[in-house]
Amino acid sequence: RVLARPEVAALPVYNAGLSEDEVRQKYNASHISKLGSNENPYGPSPAALKQWENLTRQLFRYPDATASTLRHALAQATGTPADHIMLGNGSEQIIRLICEAYLSPGDRVVTVLPSFGLHVIWPEMMGARVDAVPITAEGQFDLPAMKRAVQAAPLKILMFSNPSNPVGCMMNATDMLELVACCPQDTLIVIDEAYYEYALGSPDYPDATKILPRQARPWLVLRTFSKAYALAGLRIGYALASDTSVIGTLNKVRDPFNTNMAAQDMALACLHDRTHMHDSVATTVAERARFMNELTRQGYAPVPSHTNFIFLDVGQNASALAERLLRHGVIIKPWREKGFETCLRVSVGLPADNDRFLRALSIETGQTD
Ligand code: PMP
Repeated sequence: RVLARPEVAALPVYNAGLSEDEVRQKYNASHISKLGSNENPYGPSPAALKQWENLTRQLFRYPDATASTLRHALAQATGTPADHIMLGNGSEQIIRLICEAYLSPGDRVVTVLPSFGLHVIWPEMMGARVDAVPITAEGQFDLPAMKRAVQAAPLKILMFSNPSNPVGCMMNATDMLELVACCPQDTLIVIDEAYYEYALGSPDYPDATKILPRQARPWLVLRTFSKAYALAGLRIGYALASDTSVIGTLNKVRDPFNTNMAAQDMALACLHDRTHMHDSVATTVAERARFMNELTRQGYAPVPSHTNFIFLDVGQNASALAERLLRHGVIIKPWREKGFETCLRVSVGLPADNDRFLRALSIETGQTD
């Protein structure tokens, strides 16, 4: 038997949920409502989909190793210089590259609880210690507790998602600047904005790339084409950085061809047709309000969300409930972290799928027979 590194042997396995095929086969369900992964069911831009035909002619080539055309288009779209940008095979991969490049055993990372799983798993893989600061009882970031945590001891990385996955809450500009000002000068600030496009319409939502430069320190902002742009299947996300030295470091640990040609081309085409993306975000935000109202009518108190998902306390073991919902063909994500075992996260899907979840929930919680 070959032993894994102790850090790896101790790691939990990231729960990526079941696929539609797995649920179909295991539960013999005819219709699946996949509401566990915060995907965008309205799909990518139809204009971008035309790009597939061009792709087939180029498949024998390697992709552009530095995704230069896409980086320049992102520079235009974000205002961040092209040489401060790096692409990843999903932003998941970028989180991993950050950890591989910067974390040594014993280093400390601060994040929040409940957290996006990989904000904890990848640092632990490197032997780092993760302090996760619980959100408040109202489901908001606990600014005083986060400030205390970043000041408590040497801190290598502060990393959390804004708006938060899985809670859906957000931190405003004043709070973020206050928190960052409490970090040691040599801390790397990582703000994961996977749900940026969904939060843009919320008053006070800060674009971290606009406020972090006010303090001269290293930072990274992560975004993705998986959510609002509806390209989750292609795996493409990006990092916007404070300077070329951070990007240079990440590039050293990046696989040379880490994003494929289809992903680069489709992302570029989607950037050129942002109207479709904005329309689907607006539809989802309106449906989210209806979904929240229905949940409130059923007696739940969902946390106000700035994303395409809803976090709620169901007052019973959420993993057991999730298992029962699967029998209705409904996939959601239960939380397992200590203190949040009665909470689940449900994506805002198509209205019919959200309704299927609401019906299954009321049956399985005994509110309907
Ligand atoms: N960060 C957060 C906060 C997320 O919620 C997700 C997706 N669930 C990711 C990163 C990973 O996204 P990608 O598909 O770009 O790897």
